[in-house]
Parts: sequence; structure tokens; C-alpha cells
Amino acid sequence: MFESDAPDPLPTQSAIPAASGFEDDEPPSLPRRHSLWANVPDAQWNDWRWQTQNSVRSVRQLRNLLPFAPDELEAIGRLEADFKLAIPPYYFSLIDPTDPADPIRLQSVPSPLEAVSGYELEDPLEEDKDSPVPGLTHRYPDRVLMITTPNCSMYCRYCTRKRATLTRGGWEGVSADDERMIEYVRKTPAIRDVIVSGGDPLTLPIGKLRYYLENLKAIDHVDVIRIGTRVPVTLPQRLFDNELVDLLASAEKVYIQTHFNHPREITPEAARVCKTLLRAGMPINNHSVLLKGVNDDLGTMRQLLRGLLRIKVRPYYLFHCDPVTGAGHFRTSVWKGLQIMEGLRGHMSGIGIPTYVVDSPHGGGKIPLMPNYMVSMSDDAVVLRNYEGMLVRYQAEDKPTSGTPTATRGVSNLLQGSQTQLMPEGSERMARRRAIQIAEHTEAMETHGCGGDSHHEHAGNDGAALRPGVSLPVLAAAHANGNGHANGNGYKNGNGYGAHD
Ligand SMILES: *Cc1c(COP(=O)(O)O)cnc(C)c1O
Ligand code: SF4
Repeated sequence: MFESDAPDPLPTQSAIPAASGFEDDEPPSLPRRHSLWANVPDAQWNDWRWQTQNSVRSVRQLRNLLPFAPDELEAIGRLEADFKLAIPPYYFSLIDPTDPADPIRLQSVPSPLEAVSGYELEDPLEEDKDSPVPGLTHRYPDRVLMITTPNCSMYCRYCTRKRATLTRGGWEGVSADDERMIEYVRKTPAIRDVIVSGGDPLTLPIGKLRYYLENLKAIDHVDVIRIGTRVPVTLPQRLFDNELVDLLASAEKVYIQTHFNHPREITPEAARVCKTLLRAGMPINNHSVLLKGVNDDLGTMRQLLRGLLRIKVRPYYLFHCDPVTGAGHFRTSVWKGLQIMEGLRGHMSGIGIPTYVVDSPHGGGKIPLMPNYMVSMSDDAVVLRNYEGMLVRYQAEDKPTSGTPTATRGVSNLLQGSQTQLMPEGSERMARRRAIQIAEHTEAMETHGCGGDSHHEHAGNDGAALRPGVSLPVLAAAHANGNGHANGNGYKNGNGYGAHD
């Protein structure tokens, strides 16, 4: 289905019709199995060793499990010599086989587009240049990142560390030195937070993981050990194993940093291991990568974030996809990220909203981006806008307003202070306020013995006609505006805004 000369063959998620019904499920969704493994006994299916041993690791296996165009198979067959492939049966089963643009498939199954390389880089974050000892990146003042293994349970096709993880033999170029990494942390008291990463550290032999954890736990100046792992998403069975959970919990300083990208990854199995980790005292933060065709639309992103809240995983970062060699087809514009962020803040629980970050070239680190909420400013005030498009004057300090008022309008008038807000028409919030005012007004009428039909008249007049003696500040504001005498600009400014002063 991919043609090499097609400029942008990946349709965005919104363009794809909902696949076989399960797209509508609120995560955690139902357990699924590809038909190949339908008869595998649960005891095996739930055993991480079985999942690892039976992972799909070759194009030869893939061709029997999913439909491919012949030229596509040939192209990914050629890629196999250079890049690793691994998909545990559990994760593979989340793919809808009838959908060539399935978001789980895009993340895990090689694409001919990986052979296309533009301006992308081997080591886009220049991690290797900030490595005082092999495998350790010291970029920020108080925290370091350790690459402990090149192995992952599933190889994400867009991996930022592709040079070490997916690339066959790439590990030699990075080759971490455990003892020197630990020693560097031990003799650098400024380090408070150590990110144990990879690859995926939960693929390490347990003895090796214990070595890292016990040593880091024993260093007094280390407050936090972050385990960066996609195992809860791609191989949750690994964490059905109590020995591993107990080891992580025993290090006491452990936070889990995981990586869910799509609501369909939030399965009962993933929910179960997150619960286990949380019960064992490990907070779980999630980072997602903004990926074209996977999660680059508002509906999918909201579903993902709400699903994470349901399993008590805190959305931490939304990364713009790094310029990794052969991952250009996953990259979106920055506008797309901002558009999504615009649809989150104010619209859904603040605790479910990640910070959108671009990881800067030249090792500059993470730089947060967000829509502009500051619209204008003066000596004594700023004009801000909220998620609804309401424009509001905000005076941070108590200062006398400067200058003599001039006839002006709009944002300029907000800066001047003759007006304090501009409200878009059709605001649900204002409608709700009016309903409250009407209810309270009606109640006040009844208390004051004002019966009959009179309150219908008030309601019809937008709550503006007040009975003397009813003093609700909000009502007073509505009153002033409703009568069009609040300010010289009148009630409407022609842009669909109403001024409320
Ligand atoms: C992301 C990252 C960190 C951690 O950054 P936080 O903003 O604290 O999550 C530390 N070191 C490196 C090299 C990183 O890429
Ligand atoms: S799990 Fe992380 S390190 Fe491993 S391939 Fe995916 S993104 Fe890369």
C-alpha cells in the first residue's frame, strides 16, 4: 500500500474510519488475541518468558500475520538486515489486521519509509556529546540519564535512540560501562535524579538491574531513580512477576516513567501492572510521542489522556517526534502539537494534561511549547485569553491606572482599563451562569413573595431586569451590560464578543 513516490502516504488518524468497532471503547479496552495464538493456554500467554520467546522478530513471520503489498514486503525485508524487529504476541494482538494504517502497527511494524532519510540525524539530541562516561548523559545540572541496555521488548520504529536500540550492532558505538556510570554519580553530588534508561532497563537480567538499583539507592545525594520503561505497554506480563516488582519497590526512590501513545494500549493487563506498581509505592509518569497517524488528533489524544487518568498514570510529557534517521514519516508540524494542546487546557482535567516539549538540537534539552495565552501588555496590566477565547484584563499588582483614558476599543481598551473583559458569544459558561442567576432570582422572588408570572419576564430578558434589593454582583454586571450602558462600546463589538464589565 505504500508507494515510494507518494509524498505523504500515511493518512492521519482522523481520516481513517473507526476500525472494527473497538476504536470506540473507553480504555481499558477488552483483552485481545491474534487468531494465531487463540489456543495458547493462559498460563503461557501470561508468562513474559513465553511472550518474549514468541515475539515476532522477522519479516518471514510478519507476512503470515498481516496483509502486505508485495513491494512493501520486499522493502521491509531489505531493512531487516540493518534494523531489529520485535513484537510480543500480546502487543501484536492489539493491531487491527484489517487496517494497514493501524496505530499499533505503525509503531511496531517496519515500514518501507524507514529507508527514506532526509535531514534526520543519528543522535538527534547529541546525547553522546554530553557523555562524561560511556552510556551516561549529563545535560541538566542535577540529573543524568543512563543507557543500560540496547534491548527492548518491542522496538518502536521512531525510537530516538535508534542508533543504539534498533540498529544492529549499534550498541558498540554507545557501550555503557556500568561501574563507571555508577562511580560518576557517586562522585558528583550535584546529581539528585538518575534516569535509568536504555533500551528498556526492565529487559535487563534481574541481577544487573539489582546492581544498578542497590548502588543508586545507597548514594545519599540521589533522591530519585527513574526507571524509563515501555514494558507496562508492550509486555505487561513482565510485571506480573513479583520478584521484579519487589526489587523495584525495595530501591525506595523509584519512579516509573512509561510510554503509552494510543488509547488502545491501555488494556486490562496494562491497568493491572500500573495498579501493582502504584500499590508498591512507585508513582507512574507517562510520556507520549506525537506521531503522525498514531495520536496526532485531538480526539485520540483526549481519549489517551483520560484513559491514563483512569489507571492513575500521570501524563507528564508530550514529545515532538525527534528528527531520527528513517522516522521522518512520523513527524508532524509543531502547529499540530499546539493545536492539540489548545484542545486540552481548560477543556479537560488539568491533571491529565502533559507538557508539550521539543527536545532541542545541539543538546539544548527539552523546551516546552504552548499556545499563546498572553495577548497584550502595558505598564500596569496584561491582557490574557482563556480556552474559550475570553479576553481579560489582569492587573498583577495594585497600581493606579496610568494615563488619561482615550476613546479606544477592543484589546486596547482592556489595557487601558475602561473595560475588563470581552466574552465570546455563545459561551456555555455564561449560559450556565445565567441559568444560576435566573434560579437564584426566582428563589429570591419567591422568598420575597413575588409570585405569578413575573419571573418569566425576567428570564426572557437575560436576567437583566432586576428587582431592587436583589444584590448579586454577577447579576449587577449582567444588568449593566444588558442595558447597553456599561461603556461607550455598547454590548457587542461586531466580532462576536460581548463586553462584560
Ligand atoms: C529528559 C532528560 C532528563 C530529564 O528531564 P526532566 O525534565 O527532569 O524530566 C534528563 N537528562 C536527559 C539527558 C534527558 O533527555
Ligand atoms: S521502548 Fe523506548 S528505547 Fe525501546 S525502542 Fe521504544 S522508544 Fe526506543
